[in-house]
Amino acid sequence: MRRLTARQVSVLAAATAMVSIGATVPTGGPAASAAPAASADEPRKTPVAVGSGGAVASVDANASAAGIEVLRGGGNAVDAAVAVAAALGVTEPYSAGIGGGGYLVYYDAKSRTVQTIDGRETAPRTAGPDLFIENGKPLPFSEGQTSGLSVGTPGTPATWATALDSWGSRDLGELLAPAQRLAKDGFTVDATFRAQTESNRARFEDFPDTAKLFLPGGRLPVVGSTFKNPDLARTYRELARDGVGALYRGAIGRDIVRTVRTPPVGEGVTRKVRPGELSSRDLRAYETIRRTPTKVSYRGLDVYGMAPSSSGGVGVGEGLNILERFDLANTSEQRFLHRFIEASRIVFADRGRWVGDPAFEDVPARGLLSQRYADSRSCLIKDNAVLTSPLAPGDPADPRPCRPKGKAAPTTHAAESTTHLTVADKWGNVVAYTLTIESTGGSAMTVPGRGFLLNNELTDFSFAPANPAVHDPNLPGPGKRSRSSMSPTIVLDGGRPVLAVGSPGGATIITTVLQTLLGRLDRDLPLVEAIAAPRASQRNQTTTELEPGLWNSPLRAELEALGHGFRQNPEIGAATGVERLSDGRWLAAAEKVRRGGGSAMVVRPSDGRCDTARCGTADIAPR
Ligand code: GLU
Repeated sequence: MRRLTARQVSVLAAATAMVSIGATVPTGGPAASAAPAASADEPRKTPVAVGSGGAVASVDANASAAGIEVLRGGGNAVDAAVAVAAALGVTEPYSAGIGGGGYLVYYDAKSRTVQTIDGRETAPRTAGPDLFIENGKPLPFSEGQTSGLSVGTPGTPATWATALDSWGSRDLGELLAPAQRLAKDGFTVDATFRAQTESNRARFEDFPDTAKLFLPGGRLPVVGSTFKNPDLARTYRELARDGVGALYRGAIGRDIVRTVRTPPVGEGVTRKVRPGELSSRDLRAYETIRRTPTKVSYRGLDVYGMAPSSSGGVGVGEGLNILERFDLANTSEQRFLHRFIEASRIVFADRGRWVGDPAFEDVPARGLLSQRYADSRSCLIKDNAVLTSPLAPGDPADPRPCRPKGKAAPTTHAAESTTHLTVADKWGNVVAYTLTIESTGGSAMTVPGRGFLLNNELTDFSFAPANPAVHDPNLPGPGKRSRSSMSPTIVLDGGRPVLAVGSPGGATIITTVLQTLLGRLDRDLPLVEAIAAPRASQRNQTTTELEPGLWNSPLRAELEALGHGFRQNPEIGAATGVERLSDGRWLAAAEKVRRGGGSAMVVRPSDGRCDTARCGTADIAPR
């Protein structure tokens, strides 16, 4: 990876200015509409920013601004990450919020270590492998999705508390203030928020509390109007005053349990909404887990990620290890994509067989992340042929070259929503944090009077084994965490952070993060272009998903000639990241177009000119 020169930075800044006023985006990206102009009092949305004092990248300008406010006031990256996440709970209520969970990866500049928090939702203590089985058959996904059955104990408030107790310098109450303000005073509705409401309309209408909040007057929120959530402002005030115990042991928790056990459906609603068995005891028992991160070395850099219960760190790490033996820098785009697709296919064959909650499954994470294992899988990739899916997994305990282990199982269903934020501070601490309520709109159940949606994270469990002849490590269990794909990632060079990225997108997260890393590290794209590049996602399925930017490109025919099959996906992921430039400044980057464009900010923006002797000359090229 070559660090950006000052000249590249200023060219980028100019290109970015064009994007932020709605000009056509020249590179990649699906055909979503560009961000509408923000109203005068809203922070401006721009996908890349360069400067010093710290950086924030998220999908939303109000949320990024909340983080910048904290950094400016002397808070650190962890403080700012909590403030950004809380603000996203207001402005991205269908993707994040205190009714959900997530994973936080943190680089601590003082100890020069990477640490993580697993804040995944847990299944009720009464859950068993038959959680989603009825009359001997698995429920259709949509019926599990909108039900009390799929609601796990939220992990997000506990994640904030754990992060602040461990590394923060501010009180939760103080950090919730910007989000509380946003909820009370409102934010400007954009086209993405309206479209996400529209796609959930039928579900939301069935729950009066959800409809009252998100379909005011029975209508979709109007683009440009102000959206307020006074109930959430009050809930945040309660958390600020009483701490997260108000949720795990107090009144907010009681309201959550009541909602799950007696779903608040409207009168005359025909949808069958099954209750869940979540209890106050489940909430009281909830704990975050400080896990050792996954780590692989890739072309001389150290890549850290989230360990199981997420399959993110293992998936991205195995993918990098598999690809390390190929020269991806000096090859055609077609060959690069072919190798990336094939590596992803292998990763998902292994993920399906081996990865689940390590409290319940013997997950061979070390083996899956070993270079020896990756080499034994990498030999499957041929430049003139395409592998067939479903591909059988390998055996990390016995990594013989190209030798499968048992039968193949297809990848089970995974929805796509969630949000990712990345923060760096002036001390060099970095946070990559992905959080979710699972589907866009979660379970569709708003906790009455509380202003937030409950997750449907337990639908990330397999409802039934994908192949009855193959052990499935991701069946439900009591207190178990469903397997995630969230992949917050931090890359170090010589022990110092140079890059951090992550994305939403269900199981496509793994391929998005992998593709973004390869784009930046191997293909030498500036981070914002690596994020914008049109995406492909192969998850051990017969066809590979392509965004329109690739679907409509001649590359598709070239890859089809090799034997690849494709289907379209209008939009995959919505990544954000930060990068440390060679002169010590931060570059924050977000989407140019996807989800209406993201928001990158720095504490003290620089004009892009080279102002130190070191600026832009050093590089950390892969060794
Ligand atoms: N529930 C998904 C996971 O943990 C994330 C949801 C999404 O990104 O859509 O992998």
